Amino acid sequence: MDKILAADMLQALKRPGGVLMKYDVVIVGAGPGGIFSAYELVKLKSNLKIAVIEAGNPLEKRKCPIDGVKVKSCIKCPTCAIMNGFGGAGAFSDGKYNITNQFGGTLHEYIGKDKAIELMNYVDKINLAYGGEGTKLYSTANTKIKKLCLENNLHLLDASVRHLGTDINYIVLENIYNFLKDKVEFVFREPVEHVEKTDGGFKVITGKKAYECEKCIISAGRSGSKWMETVCSELQIPTLSNRVDIGVRVELPAEVFSHLTDELYESKIVYRTEKYEDLVRTFCMNPRGAVVNENTNGIVTVNGHSYEDPSKYTQNTNFALLVAKHFSTPFKDSNGYGESIARLSNMLGDGVIVQRFGDLVRGRRSNATRINEGFVTPTLAATPGDLSLVMPKRILDGIIEMLYALDKIAPGTANDDTLLYGVEVKFYNMEVEIDKDLQTCHKGLYVIGDCSGVTHSLSHASASGVYVARHIAGENLE
Ligand SMILES: Cc1cc2nc3c(=O)[nH]c(=O)nc-3n(C[C@H](O)[C@H](O)[C@H](O)COP(=O)(O)OP(=O)(O)OC[C@H]3O[C@@H](n4cnc5c(N)ncnc54)[C@H](O)[C@@H]3O)c2cc1C
Repeated sequence: MDKILAADMLQALKRPGGVLMKYDVVIVGAGPGGIFSAYELVKLKSNLKIAVIEAGNPLEKRKCPIDGVKVKSCIKCPTCAIMNGFGGAGAFSDGKYNITNQFGGTLHEYIGKDKAIELMNYVDKINLAYGGEGTKLYSTANTKIKKLCLENNLHLLDASVRHLGTDINYIVLENIYNFLKDKVEFVFREPVEHVEKTDGGFKVITGKKAYECEKCIISAGRSGSKWMETVCSELQIPTLSNRVDIGVRVELPAEVFSHLTDELYESKIVYRTEKYEDLVRTFCMNPRGAVVNENTNGIVTVNGHSYEDPSKYTQNTNFALLVAKHFSTPFKDSNGYGESIARLSNMLGDGVIVQRFGDLVRGRRSNATRINEGFVTPTLAATPGDLSLVMPKRILDGIIEMLYALDKIAPGTANDDTLLYGVEVKFYNMEVEIDKDLQTCHKGLYVIGDCSGVTHSLSHASASGVYVARHIAGENLE
């Protein structure tokens, strides 16, 4: 080759945006959506050239610096080891795969209820085959708890839940990665900056390279939601944004909820408040688990997880109580609203705030002495404080009302020593306009998982990945 031409080409390759390789499919994000797209594509069309581009680290390099000794709270790393990397936000999660259309997303509205359940069951089968065998599947079918809830104006939603636990979930991810790593090209620590439309498909551009592909699947999750907004605006893909869920994480002795968690593991219970007729719901229940920090774009909120391994059990059960806030015109930035509330708690507590329920209802802050004297030992080192200085009154009133309602089916819930951590915010990505194939107005560009606004859970995100893979592979989707 002509020396000057070769040098020119080399320069072009080094430039951000310089085309390096061509792929059939490029997947952005190695969370459950991205992983299951890759898995199903490999299974159905082993000849496809596939790249998965991920902003975070490979699984074994994902280490949160909080060790409880030297680093006690979130130090706001540039990419959060909890949220980014192989396995996505789900990697250190409790690994609860809820098989239901009643919560976890609205995938069924796009692909139909039966298809959505079928795909969630398929994902469950794969998880079992890759290390989840022997884990428990819980179900609300025929439970007496449903009646107990109804008698107390509470509503238990229907679901089957596979609880992998944080430990087994990790093993499943490790095994799936080992299966995929020679069949798919994984690129780690390369956040995608732009997606451009080309004549034959798309150009996926990172700070280092550009990847040309015929089909592109974006599965950037919640942590990629801000970036997703810019992609939609650059490619003129219509979006909608109007919801955020705000609440607290409740922590109490495991015995208080054991009759529910032993039978159902996770119960999704909804309550309509008498005062405002707002809906408050339980979310992400972790029997004998731990409360953890979550860092979303530098804002520290609270979450929870638990282990399958009994040796890692704690004395406590935790779950979130959330109130959904929907906005109408002219306000569009629902996530910005949630962020501002979380920022307020970060400002007052230098992170997450913890308060005893008894202190909250007496209108006083919790301090270290009151927390230490309480009968519930916190599993997260949070700052004792006053949640009423942070949470909007209407939301806090709803949460207090729900705690008293739950106290009727699980006496002890509204005890003074019950701990409330705030704030827990569930950010919803704006909804990206996609069709029944989860495809945008640009043919060949699919947006799936949590960044589409369609899913909010491991099972729905994973199922959406399988669905688009089958579509790309030309499978009959009926
Ligand atoms: C602590 C915690 C516990 C949870 N527990 C549960 C649970 O038990 N059950 C449940 O159903 N759900 C749970 N969830 C939610 C669940 O993890 C998510 O719904 C699910 O992971 C969504 O999958 P996803 O593939 O859409 O996105 P994600 O899992 O968020 O993955 C997206 C990936 O894309 C990458 N990315 C983002 N932007 C870019 C970019 N520009 N370029 C390249 N890569 C990018 C990110 O680094 C990330 O790895 C939990 C979440 C957290 C944080």
